[in-house]
Amino acid sequence: MTATIFTGGVIWTGSAETDALLVVDGVVRAVGDQARASAAGADQVDLDGGLLMPSFGDGHAHPLYGGLEYAGPPVRPCNSVDEIVLAVKKFADEHPDDEWIIGASYDSSLAPDGLFDARWLDSAVPDRPVALRAWDYHTMWVNSVALQRAGITADTPDPVLGEIPHREDGSVLGTLREWGAVDLVTAVMPKRDEGVRLAALGTAADYYLARGVTWVQDAWVEPDDVDTYIAAARNDLLRMRFNLALYADPRHFDSQVKGFDDARRRVDEVGSPLLTAKTVKFFADGVIENETGALLAPYCSALHNHGQSNWEGDALAEAARQVDDLGLQIHIHAIGDAAVRQALDAIEYVVRHNGSRDRRPVIAHAQLVDDADVGRFAELGVIPNMQPLWAQLDALMTVLTVPRIGAERADKQYRIRSIAESGAPLAFGSDWPVSSGKPFDGIAVAVSRQTAEGEPAGGWTPNEILPIERALCAYTAGVAYQAFAEDGWGRLMPGASADLVWLDRDPRTTAALDIPSLHVRGTYLCGTPAYSATD
Ligand SMILES: [Zn+2]
Repeated sequence: MTATIFTGGVIWTGSAETDALLVVDGVVRAVGDQARASAAGADQVDLDGGLLMPSFGDGHAHPLYGGLEYAGPPVRPCNSVDEIVLAVKKFADEHPDDEWIIGASYDSSLAPDGLFDARWLDSAVPDRPVALRAWDYHTMWVNSVALQRAGITADTPDPVLGEIPHREDGSVLGTLREWGAVDLVTAVMPKRDEGVRLAALGTAADYYLARGVTWVQDAWVEPDDVDTYIAAARNDLLRMRFNLALYADPRHFDSQVKGFDDARRRVDEVGSPLLTAKTVKFFADGVIENETGALLAPYCSALHNHGQSNWEGDALAEAARQVDDLGLQIHIHAIGDAAVRQALDAIEYVVRHNGSRDRRPVIAHAQLVDDADVGRFAELGVIPNMQPLWAQLDALMTVLTVPRIGAERADKQYRIRSIAESGAPLAFGSDWPVSSGKPFDGIAVAVSRQTAEGEPAGGWTPNEILPIERALCAYTAGVAYQAFAEDGWGRLMPGASADLVWLDRDPRTTAALDIPSLHVRGTYLCGTPAYSATD
C-alpha cells in the first residue's frame, strides 16, 4: 500500500476548499481533518503555498494530429506567408529523403480569404509534393507537384463535400477546402511511419501532462488511428487517458457502422485503463471562415449561400440512431446555427426513436446558436462541448468571421453562459492543435471574453462571461461527465482516482489576464506523478 498526504496549500475539490488530501493506492481516501487523522506512515507532499485541484479533461481535441505537427515543418508559429515558405524550404532541405513534405498547421488568416497559392510553395520546393493543413484542419494548401500527384487539374470539378478554388485565369490555385477536396491529396500521400505516429502520441502526452490535462477526447479517429492507439496501449506508451471518437463519413456511413462496433471491441480487449473507444464523431458542417459552416440565413457574401450541410435531409438523424443502437456516444461537430439545429433535431429523433437511456450526446463547438435552440441542449440532455478560447475578438474573428456573418449574428456566438444557465451540462475542450490545448488559455477567455491584450475593455459579449469556478468545473467535472467518468475523476472526493494538478497559484483569485501564466508544478495520474515541473 502506498499513501500520500498533500498539505501546505489550498486544495480545491471542485466544489469546496480544504487543506489536506490523503491518497491511498492512487485513490482519494479522505480530505481535511479526516485525511490528517488517517495519514500515519503516508508520504508527504508540501504544496508550498500552491493549489491542488482535479486535473483537466479536454473534451474535444486531436492529440495524434497535434503530436504529428511536431514531426513536420514548424509552420504553426509563422506570422506571414514568407515565414511559412521559409520554414517549409528549411525542413525540405534538412530532409532530402522525405518523398513528401507534410506539415501542419498554418494560420489561414495570413492570406486574403484564406486562399493560398501553390506557386508560393513551388518557390521553396519545386520537385517534391508539399501538403500543409490549415489551423482549422478543414483546409489544405499544396504545391503544384502535389496537385499533379492527386490528378487535380483545371478541369477537375468540385468534388462532393469539397471545393477547389481557381485563379482568375482558371488554373487551380492550390488551396483545397473540406474533405471532398482534401481527400484527393491524402489518398495519394504516403502513410506516416508507425514509429512516427506512436512517437506523436508520446509528444501529445508530454504536451498535455505539462498543462495539467490527464484525459482527452480524440474527436476524429480513422481506422488506422485505432491501430496506433492499440499499439501504444499494448506497449505501455499511453501516459494519460484517451477516449476515441470513430469518424463517421457521410459518404461511406453504411459500410462503416459494423467497423465502429469492431473498433470498440478491439480496444476493450486490450483492457487498458487508459484507452476507451466509446464515441462516434459526425461533422454536421464545416467552418464559418471557409463559408462551409451551415447557416439558417445566408452568408453576407451571397444571397443564397447557406454554407455546407454534410448530411442531407434526415441522414444525420438516421446515422445517429444507428450509432445509438450500438450503445456508442454521439459526438457531433456543429458550427453554424443550421448545423446546431440539425444536430439537436438528430438527437431528438434518437431519443424519440430509441427511448430514454443515459446516452450523453455531445454537440461540439456550437459556435452560432439560434435563440430558439439555446434551451434545447438542456431539454435533450445534450452536452455542449465548447471551446472558450475562441470566444474573443481576435483577428480570426474580426477578419474572417464577423464580415461573413454580420454584426448581429456575430454577437450570438459562443453563448456559453446562456446555454449553461439553461441547465445544459457544459463541458470544455480546446480542439488542439486547431488552437492552444492549454486549459488556462481557454479559461482566461471564458471568464473575461477578452484577448490576451485585454481587449475589449469589459469583454466581448460580456453577458456570456462565466464565473471562474464554473469555468474550472467545465474543464474538469464537466468533461468527466462527458466521459461517463464522474465517479472516477474530475472531482476530489473519496473513492475518486487521484488525477490531480498542482499549481503555483489559485486560479480563482488570479486576474483573468494573468490566468495563462499560472504555472503547473505537477500533474498526477492515479496518484502517481505523470509530470513534474522540475524534471
Ligand atoms: Zn475538432
